[in-house]
Amino acid sequence: MIKALLTIDDMPSKNTPAIVDWLVSKNITAVMFAVGGQAEKYHDEAVYALKKGMIVGNHSYSHPYFSGLDMDACRKEIEKCEDVLEKLYADAEVERKYRFFRFPYGDKGGDKKDSLQKMLAEMKFDKVNDRDIPYAWWREQGHDRDIDTYWTYDFEEYTIRPGNGITFEDIINKMESKSPKNGAPLFEENARHILLLHAHDETEAQIPKYYEKMLTILTDRGVEFVKP
Ligand SMILES: [Zn+2]
Repeated sequence: MIKALLTIDDMPSKNTPAIVDWLVSKNITAVMFAVGGQAEKYHDEAVYALKKGMIVGNHSYSHPYFSGLDMDACRKEIEKCEDVLEKLYADAEVERKYRFFRFPYGDKGGDKKDSLQKMLAEMKFDKVNDRDIPYAWWREQGHDRDIDTYWTYDFEEYTIRPGNGITFEDIINKMESKSPKNGAPLFEENARHILLLHAHDETEAQIPKYYEKMLTILTDRGVEFVKP
């Protein structure tokens, strides 16, 4: 049995309600990481996700590389997104039970890593339950202790863009890889995953309903989506 927590980055987008509707129809609860600036633009789409039971976490305000910022700028990026999220939860009239954070690009801040983890703890962010993740590299890289939400498998469907030669078929084939470049094999027996997908309208424009096409492969294979 393969178990997975689904995370979806860079929400909200025009396409977010359609993604949410499909997830609801499959009884999947995703942690959706919002970019604060985008959540101001697509406010109603983000509120819709909350009302439909998705968990919306903090993915910074403007999606910078944290290793390129000083500590003060990092704090402001996180706090400014928090302000947006608090308003979203209030507007949706949904209680905020979890406060999750994901670094843009998974960039944990380079030599500021320890200070940033301390800051996330002080800001009372929650850690997702990753106790069942069995991979040695997960522990070696410290993800088992870090508060931010990293991932064990990145679909990399955001690389499907005009002109760069990567096709949807490449992304689907990669799902069968026994040794993906980043992370753990998707369909290894007894795998435990934190999956990373993105809510990009640009991907929807290339591959309509890409999320449904991809995630149906998982549900057909018996992957159990766990609640956070
Ligand atoms: Zn992102």
